[in-house]
Amino acid sequence: MPRIEFRGVRHAYGERVVLDEVTTTLTEHRIAVVGANGSGKSTLARMINGLVVPSEGHVLVDDLDTRRSGRHVRRRVGFVFTDPDRQIVMPTVSEDIEFSLRRSDLGRAERRDRVTSVLAEFGLADHADHPAHLLSGGQKQLLALAAVLVTEPDVVVADEPTTLLDLRNSRIIAERFARLPQQPVVVTHDLELIEDFDRALLVQDGRIVADGAPRETIRRYRESVA
Ligand code: ADP
Repeated sequence: MPRIEFRGVRHAYGERVVLDEVTTTLTEHRIAVVGANGSGKSTLARMINGLVVPSEGHVLVDDLDTRRSGRHVRRRVGFVFTDPDRQIVMPTVSEDIEFSLRRSDLGRAERRDRVTSVLAEFGLADHADHPAHLLSGGQKQLLALAAVLVTEPDVVVADEPTTLLDLRNSRIIAERFARLPQQPVVVTHDLELIEDFDRALLVQDGRIVADGAPRETIRRYRESVA
């Protein structure tokens, strides 16, 4: 698995410090980040592919520093936004997935194969030629995830990827993450999704306050709001 390192990370938007004293190394397969709204989870997630560069400290992915090598890092780390409308750029479902492969050096036939198999896997095959904007919210969320996974990045950071999904589709995503050769880092409030993840971090007021097996982290999270 890739090695994601936070070294003495502190981040402020203007005067407001939203992450502080974050030092940790992530090498496990499936990693969850949980915590209250506004605690700094999305900021932490965005740092992994260099969308946000920390005010102080460093974030490294396999020794590539996001501060200096943002473009290289982004090639290895896919990011799935909470709001799929931010990510869907092409008119139809299959075109949108194909668009993700625009920079790959795969041949035409191989691209087609990849698109077809990812559409089938995410239950979108019947919608391949449909206008993407007419999909349901949940289908759009599946499409956004499919469009990132089709590029086979080394790390997949997903910010609340199941907020719009029903129970069945959430389970499909959980199973997909379990089989993924890549490293998924998932910010979520969906505690069922992460039950059998390999590691879970609890972020509170910009700091990691619990870190370990999901069951234990979830217990601490529940206690913190009791
Ligand atoms: P979470 O994902 O846990 O809800 P965020 O990382 O999104 O937390 O936000 C942490 C804090 O930073 C919040 O108070 C939020 O309002 C603020 N914040 C997030 N993004 C920005 C931004 N681009 N500019 C200014 N403040 C921001």
